[in-house]
This record gives sequence, C-alpha cells and structure tokens, in this order.
Amino acid sequence: MFSRPARLLGVLLALLFALAGLFGLGLQAAGAEIVPLEQNWSYRWGDSPFGPNETPLWTQTTEDDAWIAIDFPSNPPGRGGRENIWYRVTLPPLDWRDPALFIFSVDTIVEVYLDGQPLYRFGTFSAEGKGEFAGWPWHMIPLPQDAGGKLLYFRVFSDYIDIGLWGELLLGERIALLQRVLTQSVERLITSSFSLLIAILALIFAPLERDRRGFGAIALFAFASGGMLLSGAQAALLIFNHPLLWEFIGAGGYYLIPVAIALLLEQWLRPDRSWLLVVIRRLHLAYLFGALALAGLGWVSVANTYPVFDALFAITLPIMMLPALPLVRAGTLEQKLILAAVALLGLLLMLDMAVAHNLLPWTQVPLAWGVLSFSLAIVVISVRHFASTQRELAVLNTSLETQVATRTAELERLVEREAARVCLLEMENRKGAQLEVLIARLQNCERLCATEQVLNDSLPGLCEPLPGAFYRVGAAGEGRAPRVTWGDPPPTLDESLAAPVPRSGSGEETDRSTDTTASSRIWPFRLHYEHPQFGRTDFGLLLLRAPAGEASDQTSSKAGGELPEETLLWWRFLERAVEKINLSLSLLALQDELRVLSYEDGLTGLKNRRFLDEILSREIAVAERQRTPLSLVICDVDHFKRFNDSHGHAAGDAALKQVAGQLRRVFRETDLVCRYGGEEFVALMPAAGIDSARERSEALRSLVAAEPIQVEGLMLGPVTLSAGIASYPEPVADPNTLMMRADEALYRAKQAGRDQVELAV
Ligand code: GH3
Ligand code: MG
Ligand code: MG
Repeated sequence: MFSRPARLLGVLLALLFALAGLFGLGLQAAGAEIVPLEQNWSYRWGDSPFGPNETPLWTQTTEDDAWIAIDFPSNPPGRGGRENIWYRVTLPPLDWRDPALFIFSVDTIVEVYLDGQPLYRFGTFSAEGKGEFAGWPWHMIPLPQDAGGKLLYFRVFSDYIDIGLWGELLLGERIALLQRVLTQSVERLITSSFSLLIAILALIFAPLERDRRGFGAIALFAFASGGMLLSGAQAALLIFNHPLLWEFIGAGGYYLIPVAIALLLEQWLRPDRSWLLVVIRRLHLAYLFGALALAGLGWVSVANTYPVFDALFAITLPIMMLPALPLVRAGTLEQKLILAAVALLGLLLMLDMAVAHNLLPWTQVPLAWGVLSFSLAIVVISVRHFASTQRELAVLNTSLETQVATRTAELERLVEREAARVCLLEMENRKGAQLEVLIARLQNCERLCATEQVLNDSLPGLCEPLPGAFYRVGAAGEGRAPRVTWGDPPPTLDESLAAPVPRSGSGEETDRSTDTTASSRIWPFRLHYEHPQFGRTDFGLLLLRAPAGEASDQTSSKAGGELPEETLLWWRFLERAVEKINLSLSLLALQDELRVLSYEDGLTGLKNRRFLDEILSREIAVAERQRTPLSLVICDVDHFKRFNDSHGHAAGDAALKQVAGQLRRVFRETDLVCRYGGEEFVALMPAAGIDSARERSEALRSLVAAEPIQVEGLMLGPVTLSAGIASYPEPVADPNTLMMRADEALYRAKQAGRDQVELAV
C-alpha cells in the first residue's frame, strides 16, 4: 500500500495531467482560427515626422527603400543607441468576423497606425517621441475587416536593451485570441494560487512551529514565486488592468526568490558554511529594495532593473547551490525534495533569462512547473509531517487515555478504601466503647462465676455482625452445646475443628496450622484466666465466623498473603478484646482466691476466726428464725506452752495440724470447724442440740488423747484438750451469748483439771 503523502501526490499529478490535456485541447481548438503574423515585416530606425492632423508622414509615403525587411520585428542590427524605431507589416486577408492582432509583448511603448490613423496606443509618447516604461503586457489590437492587404505601422520607443515586438504575434478572431489568453493562463493561475495558499498557510503556522525561520523561508519562497507567476499570467490583466503594477509585483517576486532560497539553505548549513548565503541574501535584498524604490520614484524604469538582476542571479544561484550540494547525499528526504524543487526552478529561471535576453529562441518557459514542483514538495512534506504528527498524537492519546484511566481507577480505589476505612474506624470506635462497657461490667462482678452471665449477655453485641458462639469450658454444665449463639449461621465446634486455629487471644501462639486455604473461616478465641494456684485455666471458647470475602486466617497473612484491612482490623480488635476479658477474668480469679485465703487458716487449712465471725451471726439468725438448735464448742489444747517448750515450735505446729485433722474427722460436713486462734478451735454445729454436741466433743477429746503426735516420723506423746459447750435454745436461751457461755464452760473444764468437756449451764 502507498502512504498517504504518496497517494496525495498521485492525485495532484493526475489533476495536473488532466489540466495539461485541457490546455492542449484549447490550443488545438484555437489553432484553427489563429495564425502567426511573422512575414512581410520591415523596419526603419528613427521616428517619423508628423504632418497635419497628427498623421505620421512615414505612413503616407511609399519610400520602400527606406524600409528594411526583417524576419521578426525585434532588435534590428545597427541600433547605435537609438531609442526610436518603426516597424510595418503587410496584413494578410482577414477572414474573421472580428479580427485582431495579439502581441506579447512590446519593448517598451508603442503606437499602431492604419491608413495614417492611430489604431492602438500603449504608453505615452512625448513631443520628442520618448516615453516611460509602462509594463510588459500583452496587446490585443482590433483590426477593421477591410484591413487585409494593407500596411500596419508600429511606432516604438525603448530605452531598454531590447527594442521592438517580442514573444508572440498572432492574427485571429478576437474572442479566440482572448480564449487563448485564458487557457494559457490557467496553468500559471492555478500554480500561483497554490503557491500563495502555501505561503499563507506557512505564515499562519510559522508562529506555532519550533522551526520558525524554516517556515518563514518557505512562506517567503512560496509568496515570491507565487507573486512572480501570477504577475506573468496573461489573464492577470483581465482581472486587474494595470500592467505597470503587475510589473512591480512580478519584479518584486522575482527578486525575492534568491533571498528565499538563501534563507532556506541557511537553515540546513552549519553557521560557518552559511556566511556566503547570508551575504548573498543581503545583497539580493538590498537590490530588491533599491531597484523597486528607484523604479517607484521614476528614476529608472522597472524594465531596466531586470538585466542587472539577471546578471547577479546568474552568478549567485550556482554559488548558493554549491554549499548545499552535500545535502543531496546527506540531507533528509525533505531537504532533498526542496533542494530538487529549488534547483528545477532555478534552472527554469535561467532558461527564461536566456530567452528574455535572446540567447535562446522565444518560447514560454514553463516556470509554473518549477513553482508547482516546489509547492508539491512542500505539500508532500507537510502531509508527511501531518501524518507523523497524527501518529504521534494517536500514540500519545492512547498512552494518555490509559494513564488517565489508571489514575482514575487508582483514585476511585483510594476513595473507596478511605470510605471503607472511615466505616471501619467508626466500627472500631463503637466496638471499643462496647468493649469498655463489657470490661466495666466484668469488673463489677464479685466472683468469677458471675462473669459467665455478663459474657453471655455482652459477647453477641460486641462481636456482631460476625456470627458467633460462646462455649463454657471448665465448669459445671460444660459441653458441646454453646451457652449463647448469634448471627446466621453461628459457627459450630465441628467447623472450628475443621478450620486451622490461628492464635489464642492471649497473644501466645498455640497450635498453628500451615493450611493457608480460604476454608479457615472460623476464628476460635480461648477465654481463660490465671489461677494463683493452678496457673492458666480454661474458662470458655469464643467461636467467630471471620469477615466474608477474603482468606481470613492469620496464617495466610503470615505466609505473605495480603489480608483485607477489615479482616485485619477485626482480628486485632478481637485479640485485644479477648486479652482484656482474660485479664478481667484473671483479676476476678485472684480476688476469689484472696477471699478464700482471708477466711482460711494457713497452718491447718481450717476456716479462721474472721470467717466464724461472719458465719456465726448468720447461723444465729437462721436458728432463731427457724427455731432450730445451734451448738458451739470451744476447744483448747492443754499445756500447749509446755509442749512447745519441750518439743519445739515445729512440733507444736505439727500437733496443731494433727488436732485440726482430728476435728475434721469428728465433726460433720455441715458443721463449721475453725481455728479460733493459737491452740484454740471452735466448732459451730447448726441444727445440733447439746447432747449431740457433747457426744462429738467427747469423741474428739478421746481421739486427741489417744493418738500420739507424729513429727517427721517421730512419735511424741499425745496432747489433750479441754472443751466448753453452749447450746441454743437449751440451756442458752440467747444465741448471741453462745460464745461467751461456751468460753465459761471451757474455763470450768480447765479448772476442773483439763482433758474434759464442760457444758454451759
Ligand atoms: P493451758 O492448759 O492453761 O491452756 O495452758 P497452755 O500452756 O496451753 O496455755 P497458754 O495460753 O499459757 O499457752 C498457749 C501457748 O500456745 C502459747 C504459745 O506458745 C502456743 N501457741 C499458740 N499458737 C501457736 C502456734 O501456732 N504454734 C505453736 N507451736 N505454738 C502456739
Ligand atoms: Mg489457750
Ligand atoms: Mg491451752
């Protein structure tokens, strides 16, 4: 396939050939009616004297020997500086309806006479037969039909190097001759318009382009050659009948051409090589302005500025082209094209010059073709530029579009992410507040066992919208059934077992699965507390269904997979929440333990006096309300000071422990046995009357007295104890005095010799 510029060039060439064909047809059609008038010419130097009625006398007489025959009425020999000449021709029979003589053109002004009468005039003759240059137009001289066979006289003045008629001399029907003018001009009119259009376009684009000087040079060249061509088009006079003005335009265009050529070539040459071009350009520019100014002022005729210019141009053109020769090989395609067009035009101009100076026989040098080739070169270059710019633009466009699309998508993603983040942050805040409430409620619990209800109530709200289940572990009623579930569907233990376990809520890593599949959508969090005695103790299991969408197991994130932010946020929040809950549970467990410890005697493991004090009032109240009996026994080891002194304190401790064990054995589960202080013990017996109390006390006394004290494998003699018993309602009616009354009984037992039981009375 052809590129676009090539196709365009093809179309233009086809158009040109079609036009050329039209010219040919036009000439053929005109040829039948038009004949050259190139015979029977003679000349006579000098100017004719004029008779009365302004009749030139040379047209009146038939002094044939004064007239010299000539092939073509131009530049006869022996001018000798003369500026006046007459030509005459014998007209052939004029077989036309409206005959006319077409002349292109005259050097320089002319009067035409027939039958002694002026027929046509161009320019103004002074009384001395002189006149000023008035341009080089074509002339259409209408002839009377009966002028056939008559002599036609031409009075010519010229201060130019040539004198006489020039170019074409044609006879024919006037309308046909005019048609011929038109057809002959089509070529120049089209090419000059084309050229001027390019000049205008180049001028418009020059300020927009980086290569301003280049565009300026092209505009100047196109403008100059277009102006020159237009002024030379014969039809130009039909449009605007002012030959001298056209001559100025033609000369201006013509003289500008070397300036433009120099400017064009300067762009492509290194500055050190282009100095000659600059000199030539300035020289021609100076000549252009000088010549036109002088001609404008009327000091010289425009015609007379041509020969000097021609001589100058004939020298400068080859000089200009010489340094550009390397470009023929090294230049770009565009440079080569322009160079070829300039060279062609230069060559044609030289030929035209040779014709103008009669070095070559007269012919219409096709200057239009040179200008056209230049214009075409410019068009081809422009179209190539346009095409490549379009291609670049298209590429740029696509890349820009993709860039914009990527950027927009990025921004949209960012906005979405931000919106999601805001949502998540809001949720985090809400959940954080809920967590605070939960923790506060846990801290308000008195005992660890009370926390279960709080968790059952609060966990669903805290974990929603994640479906979940809460299982109690390590307590009565523990099992596979959850205490509470929420969401749809709540996770089950089976699901949790199938899914890899990420981490426990304590932050300590437990069993971690290497399974990174998305199947692990159940998050198990273990609730536990630190027991002061038994260490970590399970409390419950919180199962949660992980946020939907992405792989949610922690292990996958650790394996390098990206977890969605929501999932991560949930995970971190829940970790923190479970940690806080566990801490609260541990605190309560500690409190529970401390409470136990504060009611217990460290040595014997029996309840202590504080516990007794708390229980006693309650048991008294129960006994009073229900009218049930209540007995209280106080025991005191006999001569314990002595025992300590003889066996040591450690043995004393061992004896106290042994007695405590014996107390536990003798009294019932429902009785409260405690160490009241030192070597004194109290047994509170709800629902037990005095007999039952005495029975147990006696049993204890005998047991203690019977069993020797064992200390680190040694057997020491047994200790004895004394006991005082008080019972409500008999014999002690006021249960609040039970302690006192029992103590009194004990005192009596001691007084009575120890190792015995006394009853309150
Ligand atoms: P009595 O028969 O009159 O009760 O004489 P006693 O020596 O038992 O009475 P006393 O009140 O004079 O002495 C009580 C002694 O019990 C004094 C103290 O050293 C001893 N004791 C109190 N608590 C402990 C204890 O926890 N361990 C040991 N090893 N001795 C204790
Ligand atoms: Mg005592
Ligand atoms: Mg004692």
